[in-house]
Amino acid sequence: MTDEQGTSGAILVVGGGISGLTSALEAAEVGNDVFLIDKNPYFGGRVAQLNEYFPKMCPPSCGLEINFRRIRDNRKIRTYTMATVTSVSGKPGNYEVTVEIAPRYVNSNCAACGDCTAACPDEIDNPFNFGMDKCKAAYLPHEMAFPRRYVIDKQGLSQAGAEAVTAACKYGAVDLDMKPETITLNVGSIVWATGWDPYDAEKIDNLNFNQSNAIVTNMMIERMAAPNGPTGGKIIVPGSDKEPESIAFVQCAGSRDENHLEFCSYICCMATFKQMNYIREQYPEAQIYVFYIDLRTPGKYEKFRDKLMSDEKATFVKGKVADIQAEADGSVIVIAENAVTGEKMQQKVDMAVLATGMQPSFANGGAPAGVSVDRNGFVVSDPVKGMIAAGCAKKAADVATTTQSSTAAALKAIQVSRR
Ligand SMILES: Cc1cc2nc3c(=O)[nH]c(=O)nc-3n(C[C@H](O)[C@H](O)[C@H](O)COP(=O)(O)OP(=O)(O)OC[C@H]3O[C@@H](n4cnc5c(N)ncnc54)[C@H](O)[C@@H]3O)c2cc1C
Repeated sequence: MTDEQGTSGAILVVGGGISGLTSALEAAEVGNDVFLIDKNPYFGGRVAQLNEYFPKMCPPSCGLEINFRRIRDNRKIRTYTMATVTSVSGKPGNYEVTVEIAPRYVNSNCAACGDCTAACPDEIDNPFNFGMDKCKAAYLPHEMAFPRRYVIDKQGLSQAGAEAVTAACKYGAVDLDMKPETITLNVGSIVWATGWDPYDAEKIDNLNFNQSNAIVTNMMIERMAAPNGPTGGKIIVPGSDKEPESIAFVQCAGSRDENHLEFCSYICCMATFKQMNYIREQYPEAQIYVFYIDLRTPGKYEKFRDKLMSDEKATFVKGKVADIQAEADGSVIVIAENAVTGEKMQQKVDMAVLATGMQPSFANGGAPAGVSVDRNGFVVSDPVKGMIAAGCAKKAADVATTTQSSTAAALKAIQVSRR
């Protein structure tokens, strides 16, 4: 099905994380028509997966909910989930964009009652929790999901499951025959706010992520610490339920390394300090080790770092981790050379956390034709062309910086659309 909509004064925002939400709202609240699309079945991006976010250590709901409400109340913004751009043609001020919408298998009749989930016999790895637990194949992506509509993973559904979820829905919302849809949008400018993916820890051979459940990533810690996460908020060694008595944070896991991510992701040191806080709240006696190249907590974050570095049960080792070895008792040994003393260290711990960086999402999937990206996959803005990058699609950054860049991107997009 093809449907054509939009005007040359309209703006398309691709990606509905905190950056895309910000750009969409800034542009719509001064009167532009905005299309906001996201490839996920929900908006909110990676921030929705965090337990708390620095500097205020508030839950993601406090930043996202207000934006969702503003979007719901704004008739200038049209939203599409499970949507990706397949082609862009035309010129600044007059683009024609083809967007493909993947089938959700649940239509707008959905009242989010949860009866399909209750009836569904099939389970899949929970994508929101990085597969650390299972969810039903008919599911609400997470408890704060916006739009609040269920989604079905048809590949994960058995014949019996298909019959059960269809029969369970009293609103006729389950539609397993739904097909991909194509729409054409006419817009004046495009904001690319496609964000980041966690760098794939499996690619860092020497850190042996796959060799032990006791080696986890920083984003897995965020999900474990979250009350709506796979462990109900408890940080444990996955699979064993062991409460860690010692934890090592491995900074720059794959970052500032030309074999992996050659850049610094800006937030990983702060994320580790934040996660030390999570650990302290749950395990006041745990020994914490932080292995780092440099600790980078720019500007306003220095105070946060000072506080955490005064933790008496925390040891900071300036040295890049060379190897992590899995032990038969479920623990791991972190091997590094202390760059200050020259000492070779072998630290046995119950859990190692890899502080993996943020890789631009176009580094893996590739950008649509016409979008310029640098060699790392970051989108290069070209306001003259009407293609503007925002947030972590442009460079790795924290939420405060990404929202500033998204407001700036909205301003550029408005200028192009009104030329
Ligand atoms: C471990 C960790 C902890 C962190 N903790 C904090 C913290 O406490 N405080 C803080 O300020 N920052 C923190 N950050 C950084 C924070 O997550 C980012 O600043 C924030 O996610 C940037 O938002 P964004 O919208 O630019 O990108 P994202 O959150 O990645 O959102 C991008 C959106 O675009 C969508 N998308 C991607 N590709 C496409 C496509 N092709 N088509 C359509 N849609 C697409 C995605 O589905 C997603 O919804 C942390 C990062 C890490 C790694």
